[in-house]
Amino acid sequence: MISLLFAGILCLTFDDRHWENWEKALPVFEKHGAKATFFPSGDLNAEALACLKKLHEAGHSVGCHSLGHRDAPAFFKNVSGTMYVRKEITPQKKALASVGINPEFFAYPNNRRDEDTDAQLAFQFKRFRAGCGVTRKDYYSPSNKTSITEFDCAFFPVSELPRRRVMGGVGVGAYYNTDIDDICRGVKRAAERDEVFVLFSHDICANPGKISMSTEWLEKILATARECGVAVKGFRELGPVEPQRPTGPMLVSLTFDDNIRDHLLVAAPELEKRGWKGVFAIVTDWVGKENKLSWDEVRELVRRGHEIAVHTRSHQGLGRLADKGKTELVREEIAVARDIIERETGMRPRLLCLPGSSYSAIVGKIAREEGLEPMTVPRACCGQGMADTTKTVAAARKRGMKRYDLLVHGVRPEGGGWRPFPSLESFKRHMQAIEDAERAGEIKVVDYDIMANIKVPK
Ligand SMILES: [Zn+2]
Ligand SMILES: [Zn+2]
Repeated sequence: MISLLFAGILCLTFDDRHWENWEKALPVFEKHGAKATFFPSGDLNAEALACLKKLHEAGHSVGCHSLGHRDAPAFFKNVSGTMYVRKEITPQKKALASVGINPEFFAYPNNRRDEDTDAQLAFQFKRFRAGCGVTRKDYYSPSNKTSITEFDCAFFPVSELPRRRVMGGVGVGAYYNTDIDDICRGVKRAAERDEVFVLFSHDICANPGKISMSTEWLEKILATARECGVAVKGFRELGPVEPQRPTGPMLVSLTFDDNIRDHLLVAAPELEKRGWKGVFAIVTDWVGKENKLSWDEVRELVRRGHEIAVHTRSHQGLGRLADKGKTELVREEIAVARDIIERETGMRPRLLCLPGSSYSAIVGKIAREEGLEPMTVPRACCGQGMADTTKTVAAARKRGMKRYDLLVHGVRPEGGGWRPFPSLESFKRHMQAIEDAERAGEIKVVDYDIMANIKVPK
């Protein structure tokens, strides 16, 4: 019997590189009026994209699962979120866009995520698929089999969907010791309590591997859902996600790149009258050049309590140098600049500001060997052609960002520097907007190491 009244939602999600079999399973989904969400990983060639396009056009949802299947939290910590997006996500997004798919969803590789990855990747995706906390050890242990229906973390009320960015799923496959009848009991619980139940698996075929679902199981799950009136929906049918209601102020630091003379003449007084400290990133080869700080002026910034960061000797992209195998040059760019700054100011720098944000794990390793902590917290460039500061802050908070580095290069057109503010007044408005946001409790301006939650020797 088919129930006309739907209660509960079942989300079936499939990860990795099984698009051929996903496509073959299309008639099964169609037979039951069900939609699923597919998260391909790796490089997507023409054949893959053709399959994924068919799935998309049949009404299923297609998301991203990263290029290299690398754990996001570790990458964010050891390299940076910006680089994760650049290396793991953007290539997949571009490939999918070429066949008309705008992937709005992300399945975390190995289901590993944390608050920082959620916040930063919320700029890229509407919803995430991860695990729900039920592991082989509890529900799945064959000796100690508890019904999935007893794990509340595997379910949430349908009414909470607009506030659920992270969809926690239960694994289906031999590896997870799945009891298919018990999974079907989970579907029934979702129906009875009008809840969302999320499953994840990989391949769909007659004789699946350990982490995959047999076509028979899929049939059984879909038939159960139909019998008890549970709607089987893809992520794109789940409606919008409400902006997060931020819990506390976002920590913000203020960084000034490329030793512009205006940083001392204009920016420092604006910081000081508000009791803030700035980070001033110095390229040693540029000291004393036109519109640039002299060593006397850098020393003046130090005297006034600001932080000086190493911005290398000649401003080359360190990540790109490392990719080309020029690691000795990376070390030289960092260490020579560090030593010059220490010699000229009497203060040993602690932070490495990355030219052009170019970075890699090797650069991070070298920097730390040289006693410097790379500045890898997400940065918002402020200045000409950039979003209004108030909007930048609001957008970041809406996505749940906990920390942000607000970056300025040029302060005003006549003072030089990359993307200067259109006028002195607009730079002052930028600083006022930060003060206003702090006063409103939206942000808190702190030193870089506190913002970044890193330990650097004082
Ligand atoms: Zn995977
Ligand atoms: Zn720079």
